[in-house]
Amino acid sequence: MADCIFCKIADKDIPSKTVYEDDEIIAFHDLEPQAPVHVLIIPKKHIASLDDLADDDGELIAHLMLKIKEIAKDLNLEKGYRLVNNCGEDGLQTVKHLHFHLLGKRKMTWPPG
Ligand code: C5P
Repeated sequence: MADCIFCKIADKDIPSKTVYEDDEIIAFHDLEPQAPVHVLIIPKKHIASLDDLADDDGELIAHLMLKIKEIAKDLNLEKGYRLVNNCGEDGLQTVKHLHFHLLGKRKMTWPPG
């Protein structure tokens, strides 16, 4: 999508510190990290939010989820991590392209803010 910053990152029109990439997904370091490790994992296909997933996106999302486990291992998050998806206005989603935050290398707190 023309005005989507994450589509531009997926297309390499905007540089990112990529940690993993294949035909379907890309993972890159967040510009404003909220933990020592803060990586965003996105589908390359533009999907606005979790709410906008279509029934036939199942294979793509399963692929993305399974890769997160591998990415976490590559980033040495053996002590654990947090995976976050902010969806919509109340979820405080700011970039309208589906993404998952992978946060690690610090002890998380609960409840989230
Ligand atoms: O879940 P939410 O939409 O709020 O998260 C968007 C995330 O994208 C933020 O953590 C922000 O720092 C990150 N971002 C980025 N590079 C950009 C624009 C936003 O890493 N060019």
